[in-house]
Amino acid sequence: MADDLVMVEIRPSALARVSACPGSHALCAWLPRDDAPRPAADRGTAIHAALQALSLGQHELACERVAALDESAREGIVWTLRALAEAVSIDGDAMMLVEAEADCGLVADGLTTGHMDLAFVAPWRDGVAIDYKTGQGAHVAPARNNLQTAAYAVALARRYDLAAVQVVIAYVDRRRLDIADLDLAALERAADRIRAVVDAARQPWAPLRTGPHCCWCPALATCPAAIGTVADAIGGAAPTPAALDRAEVARQWAGAVQQAAHGMLMAGGTVPGWRLRERAGRRRWAAGVTPGDVADAARRAGKPVSVADVEAPAAPISPAQLDQIIGRSRAVREALDGMVDRSAPSLTLERAKEQTT
Ligand code: SF4
Repeated sequence: MADDLVMVEIRPSALARVSACPGSHALCAWLPRDDAPRPAADRGTAIHAALQALSLGQHELACERVAALDESAREGIVWTLRALAEAVSIDGDAMMLVEAEADCGLVADGLTTGHMDLAFVAPWRDGVAIDYKTGQGAHVAPARNNLQTAAYAVALARRYDLAAVQVVIAYVDRRRLDIADLDLAALERAADRIRAVVDAARQPWAPLRTGPHCCWCPALATCPAAIGTVADAIGGAAPTPAALDRAEVARQWAGAVQQAAHGMLMAGGTVPGWRLRERAGRRRWAAGVTPGDVADAARRAGKPVSVADVEAPAAPISPAQLDQIIGRSRAVREALDGMVDRSAPSLTLERAKEQTT
C-alpha cells in the first residue's frame, strides 16, 4: 500500500512542501478529494482567470471577470500588468504562452505536468516564465530557488532548447515582483535538486517533518507528526525559538481542524455541538464613490470631516473606519444610502447554543 502511494506523481506546486517534508507526499496521496469551499483559493482562481483573459486580449470576458473582483484585486491586477511591462523585456519575435502546459516529466520522472500562468519563448535562445501569486504568499520561496517555478523554467528550456530563462513571481496582492535569471548551469542545478526531492518523496516511509510548510498541507488536520508537535507544544515550555516553532505548527493545525469541520458541515454532515452561522458580508464603498463623496455625505449628516480625514495614503478609508470617526447614527446611515455595498455573506463555524428548557 505505502509502495503504491509513493508512486503517485507529484504536482510541481507541491514541490516546496514535499522538499521540506518528504513523507507528506504519501500521506496526502490517500486523502479523499476535498471539495470544501475555500474563499481565498476561489478569489485567487478568479484573479488568475481575469489575468488570463487580459493576456489573451479577450476584452469582453476580461471586463466581466475584472468587474467581478474586489477593488483591491482590481488594483493589484493593474499594478501587476504595469510592473511586468516595465520590468520584463520581451523580444518582439517571442511566442506568448498563456496557461500553457509545462511538461515537468522532462525535469524528473514522477512529476506531473504543470500549468504556467504566462510565458514568453524565443526558441533556441531564451524565455520568461511568470507565476502569479495571490494573498500574502507566506512561505513562498524566492524566485532564485523556488522549486515550482524552477520546474517550469527547466521544462521550458528543455522543450524549446533555451540557454536561459527568467523566472518572475508576481505577487498581485502584495504589489511586488521577484525576478531571477537562470542560465544553463543554474537550470541544471535546479533540475538536480528537483530530481533529488522527487526521489526522496517516493521512498517508502519517507520521513515527516513539521514546520511552516505545514500551512499548505492537505493532511495537516490528521497528520501524526503535526499532532505530536501540538502535544509537545501543549506540554508547556519556556518561550524558546523551538517552542515558538511548535506553537506555530499548533496554530496551523487548529486552523486545519476547523477548516475540516467547516467542510463537513457544508457537505451536510454534523459535528455535535457545532454549527455554521451566516455572517453579513463586509461593507465597502460602491464603485465610483470618492473621498469627496464620503466627506459630502458626512457633512449632510451633520458630522463634517475633511477629505483628508477620509483619504488614507493609498485608498479611501473603509465604511467601518468612517464609523469610528463619526459614529453610526440614523442620519449617517441615511446620508450614506446607496454609497455602500456588501461583499457576499460568509458562513463561520461556531459553537451551537445549548437548548435550555
Ligand atoms: S502536516 Fe506537516 S508534517 Fe504532516 S505531512 Fe503535512 S507537511 Fe508533513
